[in-house]
Parts: sequence; structure tokens; C-alpha cells
Amino acid sequence: MNDDKMNILGSLPTPCYVIDEQALIHNLEVLQYVEQQTGCHILLAQKAFSAYHVYPLIAQYISGTTASGIFEARLAHEEMGNKQVHVFSPAYKDEDFDYLTTICDHIVFNSFSQWKHFREKALKCKNVSFGLRINPEYSEIETDIYNPCFTNSRLGITLDNFEENELDGISGLHFHTMCEQGSDTLERTLKVVEEKFGKYFSRMKWINFGGGHHISKPDYDVERLIRCVNYIKEKYGLEVYIEPGEAVAVDAGYLVCTVLDTIKNNMDIAIVDTSAACHMPDVLEMPYRPFIIGSGDAGELKYTCRLGGPTCLAGDIIGDYSFDSPLNIGDKLVFTDMAMYSMVKNNTFNGMPLPSIYLLKADGQTKLLREFSYSDFKCRL
Ligand SMILES: *Cc1c(COP(=O)(O)O)cnc(C)c1O
Repeated sequence: MNDDKMNILGSLPTPCYVIDEQALIHNLEVLQYVEQQTGCHILLAQKAFSAYHVYPLIAQYISGTTASGIFEARLAHEEMGNKQVHVFSPAYKDEDFDYLTTICDHIVFNSFSQWKHFREKALKCKNVSFGLRINPEYSEIETDIYNPCFTNSRLGITLDNFEENELDGISGLHFHTMCEQGSDTLERTLKVVEEKFGKYFSRMKWINFGGGHHISKPDYDVERLIRCVNYIKEKYGLEVYIEPGEAVAVDAGYLVCTVLDTIKNNMDIAIVDTSAACHMPDVLEMPYRPFIIGSGDAGELKYTCRLGGPTCLAGDIIGDYSFDSPLNIGDKLVFTDMAMYSMVKNNTFNGMPLPSIYLLKADGQTKLLREFSYSDFKCRL
């Protein structure tokens, strides 16, 4: 990162998330290229990133969004113009379903019982296309909580449970079995999907490859993805949808914080004004250690320090880092890759204030998108 950008980030009130418009555009250009080379449709999975202020920008590059339920679907409907809105939920409520049929282009069911429950209503909706999520029982994800194919998974219909006589009114199949993976994983997954469910493809209009594709990461083999999409399109005449969350917003944002105190307990410890538990819950849930600009691994640079948040949770530890000089009260630290799965997952445990959200525009200007206050804590209780 250049010094100018660091100075801009360091000048903002903390804690704050900063969406990097230039980095976002870079990701969107890669996704747009895939659409252009294949004619497939790419949808932002809003659960990863719902900063709707930049939806008009996103809409310039990709086909639309997908939602996990009624609120995300509504957000897309309200904020992304007339782009496509898709939704998948493990189960829909009767009262939500009617509304969803008025704002969604695709509605994907998780089971034949959900399909049969809503079928009569669904068949009356001429503007909505209905699909089924399948579970190909093949996944290369090793962490169970991120693996929709783990034993007894509730997500998707396995071949054993597939009711081929109940397909009238269904026009698509959806699978989501990947997480931060390459197109080689997709290629192997597609082979299994095709072997197991290929016999139903001729009765479908579309297939959705789900999310988890690391498309905009530098080492991702985009050309292989393009071959996979074109193979399915040409062999079966299906429209292809891909719904990445991470690939839209990866490496497109920061979380800036300030050091509040430095203490010792066998090692140096710094307390910062951001919390792993509240502002970056994936650090504890995955878990992983987010990168800080200018830092090294513990022991790598001269001064090693553990960073923790200001909550009461003993485990509110962001990680151990090393720096060229000791941390001082008032120092600013910049965590990278904080646009995705951060703003959408944060919380006010301990009454922690929520970080504001800024946009760092491509021309270097910053714009405050959202600021939070005491009432954001109080009004949820
Ligand atoms: C989580 C999820 C996505 C997006 O996943 P990313 O890893 O962020 O790309 C897409 N579709 C479904 C059904 C999901 O559950």
C-alpha cells in the first residue's frame, strides 16, 4: 500500500471499515470478464457483503444478487435497480414466500417437501423461476461448519432423496459445495454433479454453481472456470449462474483501529478499539489471523505483541503480530481484507460501538457512508 493511502486511512476516526472502491472494481472487472466470455450470470451473494451504497457500482458489472432470505432479497430489490434477485433458504415461511414471489426472479428450495408445500402458489407465479438445491455429496472443504456436504447435512437434496416424478414446475438445479476454492475443485465437483444428476439436466433451463469460487484472487485459474461454464452450456443448453460473495469483496476493504493501551503479562499486549468478537467474528469462528499492514508474524520483526479487543471476553484476541517498533497508545493499525463477512456479521456485545463505514473512492477521496451511535445498540434490545 502506498503512503498516501495509509495516511488517508490513518486520518479516519476509529474504529471504521473502509471499502476500497478501486479494489472492488478490480474484482468486478474479473467477474465481468467471466460473464462476457461465457454468457453466464454472476450474482453477488449478499450474505458476504451487503454495503448497499455500492450496489449501483456493482450493478454496472454483474447480473444481480442472491439472498439468504427475505431481508437480503428486499435490500437487493430496493437498492440494485432492476437487476436479478435470487433467493435460497433452507426453509421459507408462508408469510415470507408470498412477498418473495413479488420481488425475486429465482426461488430455490432445499427439499421436495418445501417444493410441494409451495407448489400450488408457485405454479401461479409466471415471473418467477423455481429451482431445487441438490447435495452432490462431494466437497473438498475440510472445516465441517463450512461444508454443506458433511454427514447428515441439512443443505440440499441427495440423489437418494431426489423425487424425479415431482419436477413439473422446476426449471433449475442449484449446488453450493465450495468455500474459497479454485476452478480445479469446481471441475471435479461438476463431474460428480453431472454423473449423479446429469440425467435431469434435459428437464431444466438453468444450473447454479453456488458460491465459494475464489475467482478474483490472483492465483485463481479463470480460464478453467470459463471452460467449465461453456462445457455445461454447450453440452446441455443450460443457463449458468454463479453466486460468489467473497470473490466480489475479497481484499476490497480495511478495518482501521487505534491502540488504547499497552500492558505486559509475560509478553507485550496491546488493547485496541476494535474487537474480534464484535467487529470481525470470523477471526474467532473460522478461526484465522487477519493481516495488519506493516506487521510480521510473531517473532518475525523486532517487537512482538498480542492484540486484543476492549470487551470482557477473555478470548477476544485478534492475534500475535510483530512490528519494527513497539506499539504506542494512539497508534493506528490497518487490518486488510475486511470488506467481506465483517459488516454483515458484526454485533454490539458488551455494548461495543459499531465501526463506521467509509468508502475510499478511486480518486483518493473518502466518503462517510454510515455512522453508528448509542441508539443502534439500544434499539435492538
Ligand atoms: C455462502 C453462500 C454463497 C457465497 O459464498 P462465498 O464463499 O462468499 O462465495 C453462495 N451461495 C450460497 C447458497 C451460500 O450459502
